[in-house]
Amino acid sequence: MAAQIKLGDIAIEVVRKDIKNIHLTVHPPVGRVRISAPRRMTIDTIRVFAISKLGWIKKQQQKLQEQARETPRELLDRESHYLWGKRYLFKVEEKDSAAYVSLSHDKMVLHIRPDTSDEHKRELLAQWYREQLKVVVPDLIAKWEPLMGVKVEKIFYQRMKTKWGSCNYRSGNIRLNTELAKKLPECLEYVVVHEIAHLLEPSHNSRFIALMDQFMPSWRNHREELNRSPLGHEDWGC
Ligand SMILES: [Zn+2]
Repeated sequence: MAAQIKLGDIAIEVVRKDIKNIHLTVHPPVGRVRISAPRRMTIDTIRVFAISKLGWIKKQQQKLQEQARETPRELLDRESHYLWGKRYLFKVEEKDSAAYVSLSHDKMVLHIRPDTSDEHKRELLAQWYREQLKVVVPDLIAKWEPLMGVKVEKIFYQRMKTKWGSCNYRSGNIRLNTELAKKLPECLEYVVVHEIAHLLEPSHNSRFIALMDQFMPSWRNHREELNRSPLGHEDWGC
């Protein structure tokens, strides 16, 4: 049974379920709002709950709209693309063979079959960046594990919108943003050390800062460098 609540211009879909607690979610891409509520809860109680969350809903919707505005650009010839902080002129070359990316001293060429969609091109390029990261990260981990006295269980590589990296203290896993392949190698190393340090200290407290100062005294410079790019507002996920 689905109902709807309207708060000003925000329509909220209400779904009754066999659950104990009410909860609210805002869904991409447009910020559709949904409340799951216990079957017996009255619509008035649900409405009061929704009103109490109005500020949060608006904030989430705004975030989604901002993300939607950053729609990926078309891949254009002679556009700038970066690898490890170095700028390359991008070029697409169509030929009838499996796709690959080649680098010369100032050109990055995506070789691709004719009539490949722009979306697929972007996907191939993203995959290539991910591979570049996978080439260097295991060595970095192997370098820092003994120095920091901690073991990384698993590394995940993922394109993320708001974080350079994150970690799971309990499982010992770390997650790295594939966009790091575009940044200076020092920036990647900083994020790796930051996430490994979280395996010793999960929060950003004074102990964490002391660990960073001990292992990588220059960490503030690398953070600044990362903060210069759009993703840069410091929003570490862990
Ligand atoms: Zn952190």
